[in-house]
Amino acid sequence: MSTICSVSTPHGLGGIAVIRISGPLAFKIADKVFKSAANPPKTPPQMKTYTCAYGQVYSNDEIIDDCILSVFRAPHSFTGEDVCEISVHGGYLTAKKTVDALINSGAVHARNGEFTERAFLNGKLSLTQAESVMDVIRAKTNTELRMANAKKDGLLAKRIEKITGDLRGLCAKLGVWADYPDDYDYYFENFDIEEILLSVKSDLEELTKSPKSDEIIRNGIPTVVIGKPNVGKSSFLNCLTGRSTAIVSDIPGTTRDIIETEIMIGEHRLRIKDTAGIHETADIIETIGIARAKEAADTAEIKLLIFDAGNIDDCDFEIYKNLAEKSNTIAIINKTDLNIDLPSEMLTRINAKAAFTVKISAKNGTGIDEFTEILDKFIKQSKIYPDTEFVLNERQMTIAAAALSRITETVDVYKTSAALDIISVMCDSVLSELLTLSGENITVAVADKIFSEFCVGK
Ligand code: GDP
Repeated sequence: MSTICSVSTPHGLGGIAVIRISGPLAFKIADKVFKSAANPPKTPPQMKTYTCAYGQVYSNDEIIDDCILSVFRAPHSFTGEDVCEISVHGGYLTAKKTVDALINSGAVHARNGEFTERAFLNGKLSLTQAESVMDVIRAKTNTELRMANAKKDGLLAKRIEKITGDLRGLCAKLGVWADYPDDYDYYFENFDIEEILLSVKSDLEELTKSPKSDEIIRNGIPTVVIGKPNVGKSSFLNCLTGRSTAIVSDIPGTTRDIIETEIMIGEHRLRIKDTAGIHETADIIETIGIARAKEAADTAEIKLLIFDAGNIDDCDFEIYKNLAEKSNTIAIINKTDLNIDLPSEMLTRINAKAAFTVKISAKNGTGIDEFTEILDKFIKQSKIYPDTEFVLNERQMTIAAAALSRITETVDVYKTSAALDIISVMCDSVLSELLTLSGENITVAVADKIFSEFCVGK
């Protein structure tokens, strides 16, 4: 087993940078680059676990930086191996030169996610817990962080363990029965096969029940910006992102297709689609764009209806009639910088279309703070976030859904024929599917692929 090293903190300037070393030679290699400032000096091979020492890190005889070196002895470390962490100042060269010095002393550069992969292979984390470490790092909202931590604490692993436990019991009995088929009564007395199959099915249904909400947590809340051409949809979006993600122009229909962008607004992550201006058109490209806009509106959790304060007419209401319901709509009256007095009956008509109405000027940025507050209120009130403890990532969802479809088939076969030899084969395949989910049954190649999506140093 090699000894690996890598910078674990982001590259660039920062207070500190942490370089991690893990493997059988971690202490010996660290000893070659570290000189303790203590008297008598502390050396990594002699230091106790969970202790640290102040000193300098060297490349040959040239000092790189002051540092703190921490020691974690196997198995009481993140990876389960001997681990050293060296904290240097977070400069452009300090961390890189420290890694070079460690490599010159016998370490190899860690692959993406290799520290976490080793933790998994050494039994420190289940696969789902290891995956959740990445979810914790990537979490952008409080909801994402809470759910990632629930998985890290092993909630998903426990659920899978319960299902695989039930299946293992059933598979074992079916296996023994296959060898001694005459003793059916003996093996299955007080053992209800159908009950176990149904319980596994219902547990898997529970696990996969909310793909829509999982999608919201993984990718942000699907949101669509709808409005006639030129009301300021793109300008509004640009205002939100603070960068140009859509073309702003005076020519109606410039936004011919849907532009999607992910935006953090307050503590919410929105996946916003800016749609083509919706109007009757002969232009074939625009027609396609408009059709897609309608499709996007159908699947959106939040619909932002944009009105141009200077040009509100029946056409606006005609468009919105088919695309929005009051409960999932926020009306945004744009171009208020034009200081146009809106008749009160017009406002009443707009309010009737939306849960909230807000006045903005995308041109000079006014009203965006009010919009942010209203959006927060709207999201909380409409209970858009799932009411679940955690969500599955795509790999987990794909496997759990396949296992559910297989167990559903198994239940059907059992009810129609009760052919136990077929049931036995089917249950084995569901079990092996679920062991891939928990990581008990994955090849090194699959583990390498999963962990390669982690960042370097993790
Ligand atoms: P879209 O077709 O709905 O995406 O509209 P655009 O964002 O392309 O804007 C159409 C025109 O309206 C452009 O000339 C913008 O500069 C202008 N516009 C957008 N927002 C405002 C605003 O708040 N005030 C004023 N006065 N003009 C705006």
